[in-house]
Amino acid sequence: MTPEQMIRLTALEMAEHLRAGTLTSVKLTRAHFDRIKAIDGTAEEGIHAFLHLNEAEAMAVAEQVDAIRASGGPEADELHPLAGVPIAIKDNIVTIGQPTTAASKILEGWMPPYDATVIRTIRAAKLPILGKTNLDEFAMGSTTEYSAYGVTRNPWDLHRAPGGSGGGSAAAVGAFMAPLALGSDTGGSIREPAAFTGTVGAKPTYGSVSRYGLIAMASSLDQIGPVARTTADAAALHELIAGHDPKDSTSLHTQWDTLLEATKRHDLSGLRIGVLQELQGPGFTDGIWEKFQETLDMLRKAGADVTTVECPHMPYALHAYYLIVPSEVSSNLARFDGVRYGKRVVPEGGGTVAEVMAATRAAGFGDEAKRRIILGTFALSAGYVDAYYGTAQRIRTLVIKDLHDAFEHVDVMVSPTTPTVAVRLGDQLENPLTMYLNDVVTIPANLAGIPAISIPAGTAEHGMPVGLHIQGPAKSDARIYRVAAAIESLVEADLGKPFYDLAPEVPRVQGARS
Ligand code: GLN
Repeated sequence: MTPEQMIRLTALEMAEHLRAGTLTSVKLTRAHFDRIKAIDGTAEEGIHAFLHLNEAEAMAVAEQVDAIRASGGPEADELHPLAGVPIAIKDNIVTIGQPTTAASKILEGWMPPYDATVIRTIRAAKLPILGKTNLDEFAMGSTTEYSAYGVTRNPWDLHRAPGGSGGGSAAAVGAFMAPLALGSDTGGSIREPAAFTGTVGAKPTYGSVSRYGLIAMASSLDQIGPVARTTADAAALHELIAGHDPKDSTSLHTQWDTLLEATKRHDLSGLRIGVLQELQGPGFTDGIWEKFQETLDMLRKAGADVTTVECPHMPYALHAYYLIVPSEVSSNLARFDGVRYGKRVVPEGGGTVAEVMAATRAAGFGDEAKRRIILGTFALSAGYVDAYYGTAQRIRTLVIKDLHDAFEHVDVMVSPTTPTVAVRLGDQLENPLTMYLNDVVTIPANLAGIPAISIPAGTAEHGMPVGLHIQGPAKSDARIYRVAAAIESLVEADLGKPFYDLAPEVPRVQGARS
């Protein structure tokens, strides 16, 4: 098999080849690094999905997996099914031995003293970690343009954004630089980039995957989840990383061992699918809305029962989110003070502790982080807390109740993942309010803690990918994967090939990447 063929396999196919001995992890991991070096480039050219490459360590893990397999002993039987399959990690998940920056200057060069629980799991399962991927600073944004280290470009069109905040992970997977990646989703940061890059991204039920070692953005909403090119690959990765963790006080005790199995049953007959009354037509571009109607027709033909459901408070979810998030952000980001972590800026001639903190935070945080810290501090301040934060929390409760009631009538709800296809780089940079609107579909799932996934449904304006968003009640993750896999197979049958095979070839970069 050539390296070009290897990188285009699904993660589960790679795993199968590794088990069968028809591929080694060393060759597979090498093929991915070669691909990264050929196309990823830098902030100036290429995709720029990676902020840091972890080549020596990843190759060592690959060698170890191959040696264990070659030995054929009991250790080989105990290897995790995904052992030897490389993975990329969003750079807001802490990793020993690799810098973790959350794409912020305030953490430039910071080497974490511990591993996130998901990283411990991935190391124990022996997936070579390719490196750390770009994001909007502290995961705040929808385009990856708010990274302090330069933009990531969409592999489908280098003039467009890969979505955000997890644009790096999505672009890496979409451009065959990694078969799997981890993202984090606070309001859509896994799903929106998946929609923009033609990949699959899932936000698990809140508490399914440990948040220990995820640099907190808004703790009541943050959730780590899988990024992949197929639903089954995403389910396999989700199964690996899910499970109770005593180090995360919001971690659930639920079992998550049927997710991959669920992707093997492709039956939609009798499934009750809801379309939200409040998320109809206007607001979505014509191309997106047309594609969505085609998808609904396809679902009806496959025997699903498509009905309209109402969630009257849904129009307020976005507003509530953009008060709750800055509030939690202002509190979570207080720890970056020039004393405990990363950067420290001392004013000329020295200064008091408060002056050092102020100088550090002024220099270390970018515009969007500052905007949210200021907004959040205001929303939580005495005299305003009830009017702003309190009202937002009351709306959150109403949104949760709306969704709960709607799921009495339907098994899942579907919609397009985003109002538009991938935006052009620069288009939303000057106006955060238009950027915030990108998240109108994805946010309610975070407010309610329910699982949701985005899968490619086809293409629309400019030939760019369109995401289909599927969400279900809390802990219905297996159902979400089952429905997503069934729809994915319909889309594939319609196209005559897997969606990811439509991705255009990415030009090679000139400059070398280290
Ligand atoms: N775009 C959203 C925001 O900026 C979502 C971010 C996320 O999910 N991390 O808040």
